[in-house]
Order: sequence, then C-alpha cells, then structure tokens
Amino acid sequence: MITFKNVSKQYDETIAVNALNFTIEKGEFFVLIGPSGCGKTTTLKMINRLIPLTNGAITINEKKISEYQIDELRWNIGYVLQQIALFPHMTIEENIAIVPELKQWSKEKIHHRVTELLDMVGLDPDTYRNRKPNELSGGEQQRVGVIRALAADPEIILMDEPFSALDPLSREKLQEDIIHLQQSIKKTIVFVTHDMKEAVKLADRIALMNQGEIIQLGTPEELINHP
Ligand code: ADP
Ligand code: ADP
Repeated sequence: MITFKNVSKQYDETIAVNALNFTIEKGEFFVLIGPSGCGKTTTLKMINRLIPLTNGAITINEKKISEYQIDELRWNIGYVLQQIALFPHMTIEENIAIVPELKQWSKEKIHHRVTELLDMVGLDPDTYRNRKPNELSGGEQQRVGVIRALAADPEIILMDEPFSALDPLSREKLQEDIIHLQQSIKKTIVFVTHDMKEAVKLADRIALMNQGEIIQLGTPEELINHP
C-alpha cells in the first residue's frame, strides 16, 4: 500500500504537485492521467525517491520512504520508462539479470527466471536470451524493458508512458500482455499515461490530474458515468 499525505513538490517557482492525498492499494493497477505538465511524472518519481518531496510524506506499507535504505527501496520498485534504455553491449539475458545479480541470485536461479519472464511476454527464450537489443524490434525491446522491471520480483512497478513510443499494433499487444501479467502476478502498478482509452482499458482506478492536483479519482466506470 502506497499512501500520499499532503505531498507537494516545487521546482523554483513552479508548483509541480500540490498537496496530494491518496492511497494506492496493494495489487491495484493505478493510472495517473492528465495533460502534459500536470505533474504525473513528478508524482511517480517521488515514489522511488528519484525526486525529493518539498512537503508531506509518502509511505509504503506504513513506513516512510525516507526511512528505507535506498537500495531496499529501488530493488523493491521496478521502473519502466517511455524510452527503454537497454544496455546495447549486453545480451537480453544480461540486461534482465541486472537487479537479480545485484541481489546475488545464483546463476541457475537467474537463468530460470529469465526463461520464465521471456515466456511470459511471448518471446522464445532460446531465441532471444543471447540476442543484443539492436536485434530486437521496438516493441520487443519494450517488452524486455517491462520484464526487466519485474525480474527480481518487486512489490511495486512504476511505468511512465511505457507504450507511447510504439506503433498502434505493438501498443495493443503490450497492453494485452500487461493485463495478463497483472492478473497472474498481482503487483501494485502505478502507470502514467495521457491516453484515456489506455487508462480505461488497464486501470482498476484512475486519478485524473490537472495543474498538480488530482481533480477526480475513481474506477473507469465511475469516471465514464459521472464525468
Ligand atoms: P507530466 O509528467 O504530467 O508531464 P511533470 O511532472 O513532468 O508533468 O511536470 C510538472 C511541472 O513541473 C511542469 O510544469 C514541468 O515543467 C515542471 N518540472 C518538471 N521537472 C522539472 C525540473 N526538474 N525543474 C523545473 N521544473 C520541472
Ligand atoms: P515526461 O514528458 O515524460 O513527463 P519531461 O519531458 O516532462 O518528461 O521531463 C523529462 C526530464 O526533464 C525529467 O527528468 C524532468 O525532471 C525534467 N524537466 C521537465 N521539465 C523541466 C523544466 N521545466 N525544467 C527543468 N527540467 C525539467
């Protein structure tokens, strides 16, 4: 469970996020949506301490994020960006194994995990594990980005417009993948988008942001029926 208590972020004179109060439940697919500049990315990056808060507190499982060891926090929170930055000189397996290796998993455990993850998103493990990122299409690289974030079994996954750079077909395929993934792994996902269709398709609940504030919060049905 992630709780925002009176959270604000100010950059110089810009108030990016203003007094946010809300809770994301364990296992929930939570979508932050709103126009460019409304504070979505700032809200997301505060959760794993990529951006420090100006005011208020964020807690994860009732403990303030400032009280976690930074490694503990980052290892427990997967992060997927719009432009997946896979390391070009490393194979797909090596890319996926970065956090498991930091956590000193055994070679066998890592090999098994990589197989399982590639299978999950429909990439044949024998074909793909030893390829380099530039031998994969954009959609395939993005899929690897998603499973890399899941590799060490984090409790929370943050996704910042993870599909917006993709063509419509790859995008739909990945949206389906992520729905299936969520049904099987039951992680807490915080997902940023500016695409309402995508939000409605994926979300358990949607927070609609504008100018640093949440102006509506509810299930997709609630938002559609009571706009
Ligand atoms: P969104 O993700 O919704 O596009 P952001 O969280 O990126 O919004 O930005 C919210 C506001 O904060 C915008 O006005 C943006 O220009 C500003 N902002 C974001 N990051 C910085 C920064 N590092 N320094 C100054 N202003 C920033
Ligand atoms: P997104 O569109 O994905 O929200 P942005 O383009 O807003 O991303 O921001 C990209 C990076 O630039 C972020 O690290 C953000 O903190 C920084 N940034 C955004 N707006 C500003 C700004 N007005 N001044 C300085 N840095 C900014």
